Amino acid sequence: MMDNRSGKGLSFVRRIYPPRIIGLGIGMLSVMAGISTLAMPEWVWGLLLFNGLIWPHLAFQLARCASVPYNAEYRNLLLDSLMGGFWTAALQFNPLPSVTILAMMAMNNFAAGGQRLFFKGLLAQGLGAGLSMALFGAHLQLQATPLQVYACLPMLTLYPMAVGWVCYTLAMKLAEHKRRLSALSRTDSLTGLLNHGSWKDMLQLKFQICQQQHCEAVIAIIDIDHFKSINDTYGHVVGDCVLSQLSSELKRSLREDDLAGRYGGDEFCLILPNTSLEKAKAAMERLRERVGSYRNPQLPELRISLSIGLARCREGLGDAEAWLNEADRALYTAKKSGRNQVNFAQSELSTLNLAYPD
Ligand code: GH3
Ligand code: MG
Repeated sequence: MMDNRSGKGLSFVRRIYPPRIIGLGIGMLSVMAGISTLAMPEWVWGLLLFNGLIWPHLAFQLARCASVPYNAEYRNLLLDSLMGGFWTAALQFNPLPSVTILAMMAMNNFAAGGQRLFFKGLLAQGLGAGLSMALFGAHLQLQATPLQVYACLPMLTLYPMAVGWVCYTLAMKLAEHKRRLSALSRTDSLTGLLNHGSWKDMLQLKFQICQQQHCEAVIAIIDIDHFKSINDTYGHVVGDCVLSQLSSELKRSLREDDLAGRYGGDEFCLILPNTSLEKAKAAMERLRERVGSYRNPQLPELRISLSIGLARCREGLGDAEAWLNEADRALYTAKKSGRNQVNFAQSELSTLNLAYPD
């Protein structure tokens, strides 16, 4: 059985509740003023009090407890319209209160259910007006007393404010959801780092900036050595912990501008802006050593080692893919030369030899 709390449209029901209390409460005043000059049977006053004061709460409870709250609320809104039509005819179409009621309902129905609810609401209003005319006869009262005019003012001022406020809070909530969803779509769920796609987007961006402004940047591809055998020996849960631990280490040791992502599987990727190859190499060596010295008392045999490939953004790289390929090749060489080491693209050998002439 579906839990009503998580049922469809419960937030819709909650959202409509306060403006309905306000709208029907103060709408009742304009109807009261309108029918006060007409000789209406007592039950009409009773119905008006019920509609203005009790119905909003009853409608809320009915919708809240319904198996599909959205459908129940939709029916409630149509009943609101039906009653609105009923009261305009009971007021003998006294222009100001009638227009006030119909305009506020049009706004309400458009805001709650778009064109569809607006047109259905019009039908319901017509039905309500027909019912009222069948009971009290069809009359037209074009004169409004000052009291009737004043009685419409709260509705004309307060209700649009209430609806505006509801729309504004809804828009704020949607903006927040959008922001959260967009952050989620850029994040790797296991590690909280950038995911493959968004890291590559950043790579593209950084590549363009570096080519235009001739600034330094290094990318690093980090791969855990023999990760498959960690999974096979200790299980995937431990494997996942190793991945999370490495990502925490990355978050801890990187600078604010550095961009860390999970490239996929046991591969991580970094963009280190404004960093020389020497500095990047030193930082990655420190990372490799720190990770290599991890010991877990529950798993004393577990060792983690990293192979890391580096590539500097230099002139002559055609595009970001070429930059990434250089780092990939450096990683491949690190793996081939025995793992647990940091390696950089071959094209950089001369650069580093110049820096370290020994
Ligand atoms: P190498 O030293 O050559 O990198 O060897 P390796 O075993 O690390 O390399 P390989 O690419 O063969 O294995 C990576 C493994 O990572 C394979 C896959 O089962 C595992 N893996 C990928 N994603 C996840 C994950 O999210 N969690 C866990 N626990 N394992 C993963
Ligand atoms: Mg690996």
